[in-house]
Amino acid sequence: MSELLKDPMVLREILLDHYEYPHNHKLTDNPAFKEAHMSSESCIDDIRVQAKITDGIIEDVRFDGRACTISTASTSMMTDLVKGKTIAEAKEIMNNYFAMIDGREFDENMLEEAVALQGVSKQANRIKCATIGWHGLEKLIAESEEENDGK
Ligand code: ZN
Repeated sequence: MSELLKDPMVLREILLDHYEYPHNHKLTDNPAFKEAHMSSESCIDDIRVQAKITDGIIEDVRFDGRACTISTASTSMMTDLVKGKTIAEAKEIMNNYFAMIDGREFDENMLEEAVALQGVSKQANRIKCATIGWHGLEKLIAESEEENDGK
């Protein structure tokens, strides 16, 4: 793990950079994508997360909507982390991320830049913001798995 990712100033910059220039921040009309609409009662967050999952691989993932700094940055980081991964790999990353946000032990090497959100574990009112996009992905993965069970 890079030493840079332990510097609070660097982590703050990473967070703001993902907020200003979010990655994979564009929705598509492509019917091959599934969509999850996620909103929060405690914040302005109201986003759509889309994923194209084929043969157990997350080929593409996108999002857009109204969102605060934390939810935008955390969802942007999520798309970077899971794109191109298998469902099993994405679940492992997701579990580590949720563990970090819950203040439990986690593998920081799996989360890369997303460790910038570690501080949220001490701000109960922001936990929903930091996980809204991730829960969207979780929903899309569950839907994809259900479909494949039926086949
Ligand atoms: Zn928020």
